Amino acid sequence: MTIAYLNGSFLPLSEARVSVLDRGFLFADGVYEVIPVYGGRPFHLQQHLLRLERSLSAILLDNPKSADDWSAMIERLLALGKGGDQMLYIQVTRGASEGRSHALPAQPRPTVLAFCQPLPQMPDSVRTQGVGAITLPDTRWRHCDVKSIALLGNVLLANQALNVGCNEALLTRDGHLTEGASSNVFVVRDDVISTPPNGKELLPGITRDLILKLAQQVGLQTCERPIATEELAVADEIWISSSTRELYAVTQLDGQAIGNQQPGPLWQKVYDAFQVFKQQYATQS
Ligand code: PMP
Repeated sequence: MTIAYLNGSFLPLSEARVSVLDRGFLFADGVYEVIPVYGGRPFHLQQHLLRLERSLSAILLDNPKSADDWSAMIERLLALGKGGDQMLYIQVTRGASEGRSHALPAQPRPTVLAFCQPLPQMPDSVRTQGVGAITLPDTRWRHCDVKSIALLGNVLLANQALNVGCNEALLTRDGHLTEGASSNVFVVRDDVISTPPNGKELLPGITRDLILKLAQQVGLQTCERPIATEELAVADEIWISSSTRELYAVTQLDGQAIGNQQPGPLWQKVYDAFQVFKQQYATQS
């Protein structure tokens, strides 16, 4: 049985209920976080809580909890859970009002939901062969730095990729790469690892930051810069990163091989560094 946190109570997820007037339900008026949990410890919790704070501020909603209160709630939720590697989902919406109105309520009563589910493990085939992706025009709104629960754009784009047997859609806008439908993207050419700069066109990924840091630590050259769409087809390696996928190599793009269609040597180096870092974190007390 999965335990959820909802507005101050811990209860079975299957019994958690919110009003149909919740603005999350009516307007997708809310934000969320997904936090990996390794060895019972939420990974980069402070960075996720900071991004949550920024998302809340962007939608003009006060943070319903202090950082200490978030940490205490999460600690209790994890203690009530099954253990093992988990993905922790947190969602804050503007809650229910009297009726349906675009006008923001003067005194919102936010809905706070959190629950865990097992973290998907990287399949062996992904480690050895990488994944396929397609490029698609980025049809989403212009505030992609906000981790909004309004994910229909991302969902439809991701499903175009899934429908043709690919793992991810790499999105382009005005001739340059933004991000994946649910990941950040790295492009390797001539031993330089490039990724688009943070801004309104993409989510500032927590994993993205860690990948840049680890790549530098293992002596690789990184660069945050706009990436032209044409650079994708001629890349030596392409990677995608997220809290649930960690770091995948994209070895086929739009049906064409990337590099020699195998996860590349730089991916291997940074992936290994990630595993060491994660292992150390999970076993620290
Ligand atoms: N971009 C988008 C659109 C995403 O949905 C995600 C995953 N939540 C990411 C990037 C990666 O962010 P993170 O590494 O913080 O999970």
